[in-house]
This record gives sequence, structure tokens and C-alpha cells, in this order.
Amino acid sequence: MRKYFLLFALLSACTSSSLEKQDKLHIEMLNVGQGLAFLIKSKNCNSLYDTGTPSSGLDTMLQNRGIKALCSVIVSHRHNDHAGGLPLLEKMAKNGEISIKRVIFFDSLSRGDTIADFLPWTARILFQDGALRISDSQNSFLFMADLEAKHEKNILELEPLLTATALQIGHHGSKTSSSWEFLAQVQPKMALISVGKYNSYGHPHPETLAKLRLVLPDSMQLFRTDLDGNVVVEWVYGVGMWGL
Ligand SMILES: [Zn+2]
Repeated sequence: MRKYFLLFALLSACTSSSLEKQDKLHIEMLNVGQGLAFLIKSKNCNSLYDTGTPSSGLDTMLQNRGIKALCSVIVSHRHNDHAGGLPLLEKMAKNGEISIKRVIFFDSLSRGDTIADFLPWTARILFQDGALRISDSQNSFLFMADLEAKHEKNILELEPLLTATALQIGHHGSKTSSSWEFLAQVQPKMALISVGKYNSYGHPHPETLAKLRLVLPDSMQLFRTDLDGNVVVEWVYGVGMWGL
């Protein structure tokens, strides 16, 4: 199995027993083809950020992982490749296979709102249609859904010092997202692209991949569902995160 570590703190200073006691976040970019769905597992809660397409197999993926309850299903926007799995979840709930506490649509949220399901991590809404930043004191994960360069510009006007350790690359790696200005400011150490194998859109675009090769300190920290399948990011609170 491909395994690349990315640690941003002195892990060696932590004994395994002290790590055991730390809060952990398990973020999995599910291989839903040409769509987007993340499963985020914390100590108290399982959540989804987007749900993939109607044919993504999200229901089977959740069953295979033993997920029987979701605190929140966060939906960036209502396009079929992001919200299309909602009927599958509704069917599971109706059959008693899963309980879902709440579905949160981004269009019901405002900039600055926070989602408490990931405490002690801070999860803050940066912008409409999917910009969600989860952070601890050391690292951060920025979800961008399908946001494009014009939205990145808007975000940087509001957050000129924005950075992220891990960045979900907007719009499946389209060349209309991931502007130089945005990548240069955010300075991701890890990039994640959810994209269907042999998709008809040509995602991810070679220009986006070329930019990421230059921006990422280590080109091996680019993860793609079409090449890598499900991608897991493990995150120990206040210690570090690494991709698997
Ligand atoms: Zn999309």
C-alpha cells in the first residue's frame, strides 16, 4: 500500500501512549468517481462532507465501514456529483440502516459560522458553496468543493493570510480552479483531488497538475482518487497529519 507520511510536529517527542490519548480525526476522501464525498470520523461523531453521485455506491461504502450514525451531512452545493448521494442516505435512514442527525446545506450557512461536530477542532465556513476550513493550532484542512478561481479571489480578499496544510483541490482539478495566486498564498503541503478515472471532462487538467508539482514541497503529497482509490488523512490533534 502506498504510504507517505507528512508530519508537522515533533512526533518523536511523543510516546505512543501519549498519542493514544490525543484526539484524532480520520478524514477519508471516498473514491466516488467523478464526484466528491468525504467521510470525517472524530471521537464523538461521523460526518460527511458531500455525498457523491447517485451511483457512487456511498451506501455500500458506509456499510462496509460499519457507519451506522452520522452527526451531520454537510452539502457544499446541490449539483448531482456532490448532493446526488442524498437519496441513498435517505433510503438507508428509511430502512433503519443509518441514523442522520442533520443535513446542513451550505446555502443555509453564513461566512464565519462554525460546525461543532469536530470539536476540539475548529470547523469554520469561509465562503459560500463549500469553503470549509477545519483546523487545530498546528494544521488545517481546506475543503473547496467546486469553487473556481473567481471564488478563490473573493476568499483571499476576505482572508488574505489564508493557509492550509491539506487542500482539497477545487472542481476536480479543473483549470478554472487553483489559480497561482490562491495556491501561492495557501501553500498546501498536501493536495487531494477527487476525480473519476477516464472522465470526459479531462480532469484534472495538466495545468493544475503542473502548478501543484511546483507548489507542493513533495510531489508525492498529491493524492487522487482515480489513481489512489480511497485516500485517508489521519490527523492527531496538535501533533500532525499524514496521508495514506
Ligand atoms: Zn463537482
